[in-house]
Amino acid sequence: MVLLSCRFILCTLLALLVGAQVSLADDIDCPGTPVTVRAGSSADAAPICTAVTDALQTLRTCNVPLTHSVTVIQRDTLKSGCMGVYHCGEEEIELLTPATMEAARNPDSSLAFVDTQTYFNSILTHELAHAAFDAVPCPFDSCLATHEYVAHVMQVRSLPAADIARFEAAVDMDTPLSRESINPFIYLMAPDAFLRRAWAHYRQRPDPCGYIGEIMSGKVVLDRERFE
Ligand SMILES: [Zn+2]
Repeated sequence: MVLLSCRFILCTLLALLVGAQVSLADDIDCPGTPVTVRAGSSADAAPICTAVTDALQTLRTCNVPLTHSVTVIQRDTLKSGCMGVYHCGEEEIELLTPATMEAARNPDSSLAFVDTQTYFNSILTHELAHAAFDAVPCPFDSCLATHEYVAHVMQVRSLPAADIARFEAAVDMDTPLSRESINPFIYLMAPDAFLRRAWAHYRQRPDPCGYIGEIMSGKVVLDRERFE
């Protein structure tokens, strides 16, 4: 199977959400960032821009700079169970609002204990990491595992230290994980296991953000060419 996708999504297995889309209005620039928020007013955009600034700080301080413009759009509903979607090519991120995210969260997720606003910010970080990594050339048909590795690691990294500690307490952080354990099949079949593996693998690197920098420079690719 060749995985060709230009949409990176974070989904749960919950049922389809119903509801109307947030009414669309202007694109409002988040000051000092390449990110624009589609919102009804500057007041509506302000809290999202604050979250964007924090997310970009999480990314930048771990060698994941966002170097191109992206528009963030909040929705009351997304494709079945999804929290957020990054549309490459269109340079758009769609996210559930925090209120709709609250209802859509998977109670069995490893991050189910994280409060919803913090979780919303982590999903924003996840999708912005996809946008940043999208600038890195992929030598194969698909770099899905590498894309999702960077996004999931940055998502967890965005959390408060106490939340990271609680998450890690339920994860086997010590058994050494090989590069091959981070693969697209685990991501597609068991996304929560992928999240735990990605974080444990990242934390096992001698220089975790240096490793992310090697991924962002194209020196390290977790995917492999697949002949089928
Ligand atoms: Zn993703």
